[in-house]
Amino acid sequence: MQFYIETLGCQMNVLDSELAASALIGSGLTPASDKFDADVILFNTCSIRRHAEDKVFSALGRLKTWKDKKPYSVLGVIGCMAQKEQKNIFQRVPFVDLVLGPGSLDTLAAAVHQLLDEKVSGSRQAKKIAVSLDRKVNRHNDLIESYRLFNPERTVKETGTIKDIKAPKHASLVRIMFGCNQFCSYCIVPYVRGPEQSRPPGEIIAEVQSLVRQGVSKITFIGQTVNSYIYQDGGKTAKLADLLYEASNIAGLEQLDFVTGYPKGVDDALLQAVRDLPAVLKHFHIPAQSGSDSVLRRMNRHYTAAEYRELTDRIYSAIPGSSLTSDFIVGFCGETDAEFEATVDLVKYCRFRNSFVFKYSVREGTKSAELYADDVPETVKKYRNNWLLEVQKTAGTDDGACQSCRNRYN
Ligand code: SF4
Repeated sequence: MQFYIETLGCQMNVLDSELAASALIGSGLTPASDKFDADVILFNTCSIRRHAEDKVFSALGRLKTWKDKKPYSVLGVIGCMAQKEQKNIFQRVPFVDLVLGPGSLDTLAAAVHQLLDEKVSGSRQAKKIAVSLDRKVNRHNDLIESYRLFNPERTVKETGTIKDIKAPKHASLVRIMFGCNQFCSYCIVPYVRGPEQSRPPGEIIAEVQSLVRQGVSKITFIGQTVNSYIYQDGGKTAKLADLLYEASNIAGLEQLDFVTGYPKGVDDALLQAVRDLPAVLKHFHIPAQSGSDSVLRRMNRHYTAAEYRELTDRIYSAIPGSSLTSDFIVGFCGETDAEFEATVDLVKYCRFRNSFVFKYSVREGTKSAELYADDVPETVKKYRNNWLLEVQKTAGTDDGACQSCRNRYN
């Protein structure tokens, strides 16, 4: 039996697809090079924007003919949209067999095999749903149990052949933490990926060692707020800096970096590790989102523009030759010209190597959708988007950016 995974969304999903593929290969399935040859098709989905969800519904609809031709086949939706939309997916696309959220990926291989067995034997063809508890109404400990970490052994050589897993075989993502506790008002992630959970450092280092043994020489540690990584055990505390030191000692590992940063919790130990460890890229991706304190408050980001400026000063002075990139949302609810100008000032001040600019769009289920009107006209959003990109072009610098950062971000 063959499977095919189509991946949408961020690096978290790219990694989840790679891990899901490893688990399916481990369970005896083989990757299909063509989607329509597969017996199992999974969509690993994103919920950040409505547009991403609409794309998945359309893509699922287009598989009706494939489904009719292969009645024993399994069509599944995994990832953030599976957690958020759950039963709605079955209602809108009745021939979907499986809906499985990011906190339930450990059950994927068993669920796929059970569905295949039931279909092949002609027994009852039950749909399957495995999602985590609703974060808005459940207790922390119950939530932790329902958002289970999923880090099966990976075979780079085999998953590297799967379409949509674009990472070259010499580079791999390694998740060091799952979930997010920041609750930015515009963001759905804390509700679909659950509470922040850091992986034990021993497990992370063992995974890096295994990947390096398979020929990987570049590792990116990933997490929603990667510098919040903290693991406490038996009176010992491990933070991101400790992981960088330990991973840097692994023979054969040539390059190490980490994404995505949050503007709070960049401690001196982390700056020192980035400065002193030759394998670590002298680069930080730390989204500022806005340069206006009032917008940052509405976004529920827990820092001011002045604090963000101080952070960039600290990084540039602690790490000669370092570079920074950022994300910005323009046209956030109620954003005035003056508030947008404050963002322009921040971009000019911070000399980012690059800025990724997005127009605000409403996401149902988030606080900003509940509390604020999406009242900045589309034309104004577009204008501010283009204007900020122009400012970035002239204010940004690659002075001091190391060659590896250039390779990575160009
Ligand atoms: S830090 Fe904010 S934007 Fe990033 S994942 Fe968490 S809630 Fe979303």
